[in-house]
Amino acid sequence: MTPHGGERDAEIVGALGAVRARIARACQDAGRDPQSVTLVAVTKTRPASDVAVLARLGVHDVGESKDQEARAKIAELGDLGVDPAALRWHVVGQLQSNKARSVVSYAHAVHSLDRPKLVRALADAVDAAGGRDEPLHVFVQVSLDGDPQRGGVPQAGLAELVDAVAARPQLRLRGLMAVPPRGEDPQRAFARLAELAAGVRADHPRADALSAGMSDDLDAAVRHGATHVRVGSALLGRRDPVFG
Ligand SMILES: *Cc1c(COP(=O)(O)O)cnc(C)c1O
Repeated sequence: MTPHGGERDAEIVGALGAVRARIARACQDAGRDPQSVTLVAVTKTRPASDVAVLARLGVHDVGESKDQEARAKIAELGDLGVDPAALRWHVVGQLQSNKARSVVSYAHAVHSLDRPKLVRALADAVDAAGGRDEPLHVFVQVSLDGDPQRGGVPQAGLAELVDAVAARPQLRLRGLMAVPPRGEDPQRAFARLAELAAGVRADHPRADALSAGMSDDLDAAVRHGATHVRVGSALLGRRDPVFG
């Protein structure tokens, strides 16, 4: 326990309650069941002790953007009394294919699959590991404006990439993921994303999930059908802009 463990617990309890209330309100506005939204707590740059607090509060979906950082936290959690295997680890950041073997060893889902090379790398890594109990869940990240900085496959390559994921039994296509373009109204961005997602579902009916919404825009995302919101700073405080 850190010296200020009690205070930190209280902070996180308060923030979690506020985030859950926002999700509930957005679901009510959209006529959706709050159970249909999975809160993925993005814990990048935050210590393993924060993951432990969240786990004790019933948040079992944890998002990390760097493989190395995820592995370090998983190694530490046992000492904090939390079984890391009882959590579902979501990789939300840009992923290099040379990290595929590592990622398939602990991840439940990858939200940032954005190129064919990564499909091969992840599927081959599952085979190299001798398979998995469950396929690796995959969200294909699509770029809503074609800006390579934000990540995501350009829309012209989306259908082909989605088909490539669906063709691999080692992977389970869950749906799309996107980050709204900088400066664009998130409502508009998520409305476009919902259209793209509907197109994907027409070809792949099981791809019924949608990873969209972060601390600032989760409400709009839920109103547009997000099933997985990826929330960091609203739960754990603002990150240092240099590292976050
Ligand atoms: C950091 C990050 C988040 C969480 O962002 P917040 O604004 O802190 O909620 C969500 N998704 C991705 C891809 C991220 O990199």
